[in-house]
Amino acid sequence: MKITRGYRTELDLNNKQKTACLKHAGTARYAYNFGLARKIEAYKKGEQVPTAIDLHRELNKLKQTELSWMYEVSKCAPQEALRDVDRAYDNFFRKVKLKKQGKYKGKLGFPKFKKKSKGIGSFRLTGTIKVFSDAVQLPRLGRLRLKEHGYLPTDTHILSATLSEQAGRWFVSVQVEEEQAAPVNTATTAIGVDLGVHTLATCSDGTTFANPRSLKHKLKKLRRLSRSHSCKQKGRKNKEKSRKKLAALHARIANIRKDAIHKFTTHVCKNHAYVAIENLHVAGMLKNHHLAQAISDASMGEIRRQLTYKAEKFGTRVVVIDRFYPSSKTCSVCGYVLEKLDLKVRVWQCPNCQTLHQRDLNAAKTILAASSVER
Ligand SMILES: [Zn+2]
Repeated sequence: MKITRGYRTELDLNNKQKTACLKHAGTARYAYNFGLARKIEAYKKGEQVPTAIDLHRELNKLKQTELSWMYEVSKCAPQEALRDVDRAYDNFFRKVKLKKQGKYKGKLGFPKFKKKSKGIGSFRLTGTIKVFSDAVQLPRLGRLRLKEHGYLPTDTHILSATLSEQAGRWFVSVQVEEEQAAPVNTATTAIGVDLGVHTLATCSDGTTFANPRSLKHKLKKLRRLSRSHSCKQKGRKNKEKSRKKLAALHARIANIRKDAIHKFTTHVCKNHAYVAIENLHVAGMLKNHHLAQAISDASMGEIRRQLTYKAEKFGTRVVVIDRFYPSSKTCSVCGYVLEKLDLKVRVWQCPNCQTLHQRDLNAAKTILAASSVER
């Protein structure tokens, strides 16, 4: 079976290369906004909405006159950005259609203009891309050094490369097509998982995955830093300095979380044939202002993403149960459902069968039992 996958790693850029990357990202952002504006304009006038190909032609004409600075960057950057607008625009109308038919319940989200203040962004290049163990060679940008050697695959065909900036660091993600061997999973056990704030995940067999200890410390620091950031004056150098610091800390926290999630998802997919998990709908969840909760909410999407591709890789079956199922409040032994269970209560006793329950472990067991009904 052929699969497409991405390998992401950090670049080691000199100042000249950084400037070139900024130019590319800027051009991609410009092209995206240009395309979106043209689409909206045509739509309002009742004209045929231009496609990425039309827009690229328009942009190429302007390039000869007022947009001559575009010659400094690879033509792929604006071209791929216009393809992204196409996709975002079509996705919106596809969702509108589904919503009318009652098949889609989430938000619609019309594509937004990209602002530099929201981040430098990214750009994608196609064409002749070569990967070496210590560098990647791209059109126009030339040979860029990698921080980690030997991670990117050197012997496969590269479909595209995406360069992005995060808190001052640059990353490259290369898309490759790979042959994936059919999964052989020798595990036979089934497991239920409760995802939480206090502990990252609790499994029905008693295994727990704690949040990394450094996370708590970093969250404290984040609270302090964001408070000091908010009282700095807009437009001042100090504000910009603290913004950079804050962005770096956010990225660090996300990385710590991501690493912990990788350990957890690999463990459950590798060691079990069947994994039951609650569907925590990310987009639909209420905005929570409690810091730890908010960070944990943000990881749900990442957990789901990792579980999906690892399940495929290991041949594990992942079953998602309804998010309104009262997993914490249901006794895993007799099925009794409590009327109310406060978030603070970590241990409770079932009034029906007298079993003493640890909140998360009981929830994990209930999730497993509930999923087998649907099995
Ligand atoms: Zn009970």
